[in-house]
Amino acid sequence: MPGTGRRYGFFRCTNCRAQWESAYVFCVSQWSDGEYYEQDCKKCNTACSPYKVEKLKCSKCGQSVCVCSRAEKAERHTDPNKPHRSDLCHKCQSGSPCMD
Ligand SMILES: [Zn+2]
Ligand SMILES: [Zn+2]
Ligand SMILES: [Zn+2]
Repeated sequence: MPGTGRRYGFFRCTNCRAQWESAYVFCVSQWSDGEYYEQDCKKCNTACSPYKVEKLKCSKCGQSVCVCSRAEKAERHTDPNKPHRSDLCHKCQSGSPCMD
């Protein structure tokens, strides 16, 4: 089903240029592919959309729950298990949290 499901997103604040990544990026609706819930910059609170979104899979081991060693993880830092900042996430604040 295209347009649904969790993705891994890369964010860059348009205001202060802070960068972050999130393992909890969701489409706004299944009919709006490419439109994702925003997350607030933790430095300046500007709402930002991801500039890049990937499938939620470790690019090395191919697992959604990464089984790589620590050295392998350091090499490629896409981490599906990254903790989620619900306080900065517009989806969580919209009443349908990313994590039940
Ligand atoms: Zn910012
Ligand atoms: Zn891995
Ligand atoms: Zn969330």
